[in-house]
Amino acid sequence: MAERFDLIVIGAGPGGYVAAIRAAQLGKRVACVEKRGALGGTCLNVGCIPSKALLDSSELYAQARSHFARHGIQVGDVKLDLAALMARKDGVVKGLTQGVAGLFKKNKIVPYVGEARLAGPSEGEVRRVVVKGAGGEEVLEGKAVLLATGSEPAGLSALPFDGRNIVSSTEALAFDKVPHHLIVVGGGYIGLELGSVWCRLGAKVTVVEFLPRILPLGDAEIAEALHKSLVKQGLTIHLDTKVTGAGTQAGQVVVSASHKGEDVRFQGDKVLVSVGRRPYVTGLGLKEAGVVVEEKTGRVAVDENFETNVEGVYAIGDLIHGPMLAHKAEDDGIAFAERLAGMKTHVNYDTVPSVIYTWPEVASVGPTEEELKKGGRDYKVGKFFFKANGRAIAMDETEGFVKVLADKDTDRLLAVHIFGPRASDMIAEAVTVMEFAGSAEDVARICHAHPTLSEAFREAALAVEKRAIHS
Ligand code: FAD
Repeated sequence: MAERFDLIVIGAGPGGYVAAIRAAQLGKRVACVEKRGALGGTCLNVGCIPSKALLDSSELYAQARSHFARHGIQVGDVKLDLAALMARKDGVVKGLTQGVAGLFKKNKIVPYVGEARLAGPSEGEVRRVVVKGAGGEEVLEGKAVLLATGSEPAGLSALPFDGRNIVSSTEALAFDKVPHHLIVVGGGYIGLELGSVWCRLGAKVTVVEFLPRILPLGDAEIAEALHKSLVKQGLTIHLDTKVTGAGTQAGQVVVSASHKGEDVRFQGDKVLVSVGRRPYVTGLGLKEAGVVVEEKTGRVAVDENFETNVEGVYAIGDLIHGPMLAHKAEDDGIAFAERLAGMKTHVNYDTVPSVIYTWPEVASVGPTEEELKKGGRDYKVGKFFFKANGRAIAMDETEGFVKVLADKDTDRLLAVHIFGPRASDMIAEAVTVMEFAGSAEDVARICHAHPTLSEAFREAALAVEKRAIHS
């Protein structure tokens, strides 16, 4: 007889594993099927966590080489041990994925290793899932099935992945030697983060972007500031450049491209194609089960309960609408599980922050200034530069600024964009204020500890009414 569950989760990424844990906390009997050997999904295995481990290690290396002396620290000849650096990253990943396995055990979630698919149309109250594992096929039955299979790197037909020289982020997280010349196709956050890693570790890095700017979805002023900073750090960036093809010979790739009608070529030993990600639905049996996928985006269509058009079949995370981010997937997972249990939780997609972990970092919440203009919203701007922030000066990290956008009439905080040190940690305060529908005046009146980087946020809020103290 098939094993029976209240909920079968397919995919153990931050969406799936968090949904499984929350549903178990709420008393459901839960199974979670994952085809990868380890839990944690893209995020823990080949995404957020390994990339941040490499960013942190490479930043320390860059600091040791070029920054420590400014603090009066002489370290002599700084050497890179890439194998040790990669082993540390692998250890971080292992520790965290094993941690998720521990949480599954604690919450009595039954894990299955294998590839899951919906077993055709639902019958009455029962949904069936076929799990193809090492020991053959097994059928699970559940009252509800959650699809949380995430996303995969989108490729370019002109530049097909070969897994060796033309690669996705997965391989670029694990090069066994520093490339001589890494060509990054796509100036989004993944390309810029991994480009930064390898540039700091000694590679020549060239970024090729089709659009007229990097970070096409971000605030233009912030993108421009990051662009300048990355160029200063040694990256070369080509905008308005469309890749048209590539040829590989003796470990060298020649990428052909077109810039304003002129042919250009780039030659390197590694090409990272990072032009976005697309929902991953391969082998899930959606068509057979009658689950509707949006034609234009490839995303699974869901209602406010995260339910697809097929009763009892739900979807969350990168698979559905909204930003493809781990914390958004987690929030989807919690809201889904609570709604399944009859609670009225929702996710406020307007206050999902986004972070780019370059150095300095970029962190944003809310619309860009361009989007506000386009939407005809009247707004006020307050800006404060880290070069006037005491803590930033003490840290010797004075590059960047905080930009606060507030409604012209009500003063309500509409958006905050930060380019600067530890922007990733600073953005949480902006998200909190926006969740509580706070105003720039509210931020300006809140006492911020001194000396902290967060004072720059308060000063930017004060600057909305041109009353910043330190500028
Ligand atoms: P995923 O994490 O993709 O998990 C889906 C899981 O489902 C996978 O483990 C997959 O093996 C499994 N699966 C798929 N099909 C089946 C099947 N048929 N049967 C069984 N299992 C299946 N986001 C951030 O918020 N911050 C960051 O700093 C960040 N950095 C990133 C860096 C990189 C290099 C990449 C690639 C991504 C990064 N992301 C980051 C994005 C983040 O990883 C994703 O948004 C997040 O993992 C999505 O979670 P998910 O649960 O929807 O899916």
